[in-house]
Amino acid sequence: MRILIVEDEQKTAAALAQGFQEAGFFCDVANCGNRGGQMAMNGGYDVVVLDVMLPGRDGYALVRDMRSAGCAAPVLFLTARDAVADRVRGLELGADDYLIKPFAFSELLARVRSILRRAGPRPTDRLRVADLEIDIPAHKAFRHNQRLDLTPKEFNLLLLLARRQGEVLSRGLIARHVWDVNFDSDSNVVDVHIRRLRGKLDDPFPVKLIQTVRGAGYVLAAP
Ligand code: CA
Repeated sequence: MRILIVEDEQKTAAALAQGFQEAGFFCDVANCGNRGGQMAMNGGYDVVVLDVMLPGRDGYALVRDMRSAGCAAPVLFLTARDAVADRVRGLELGADDYLIKPFAFSELLARVRSILRRAGPRPTDRLRVADLEIDIPAHKAFRHNQRLDLTPKEFNLLLLLARRQGEVLSRGLIARHVWDVNFDSDSNVVDVHIRRLRGKLDDPFPVKLIQTVRGAGYVLAAP
């Protein structure tokens, strides 16, 4: 089982990581919201333990971005706020549970195990669109069982498009999810990467998966 801890207090993060490792989990740590978001969306984690107050994106923004990118990994919030409104907000944004700081590690572990039992086996390890297959934890993509030689950015771009297959994604949304920045509207970074991705994903095959929707963005869909 793989767990991602997003927590900016390094001592707390290290203590949690050690606890989870001793309990038999593979554990990664991110110390800010932006890095945590990238890891959560690309890492194929079974559960994400997410501090609410973070530099960069806070925990609320991060879980909202995860869900809007189609990332369904269960999330447990750690919050110093015990106001009902804050807890409700987290749950409404798509978190699965929360724990108020300070807490005993044994309770966090019990909550995580309970989330994993409820979640059941991971449905999101592999994504398929027509003859495209994406192995998310391994960061590999195949068409027609042929491995595509993608850079990490190209892989992340493909993963975003595939997770939201059939949906037209604007350049701005793609930039926020793949580069974690807002590009100027005249930037062509997204177009350049789409072109490179097409060169590997679509050009060698008769069936094209990525379509340009003029004035709106890009969509990946089975024809
Ligand atoms: Ca914090």
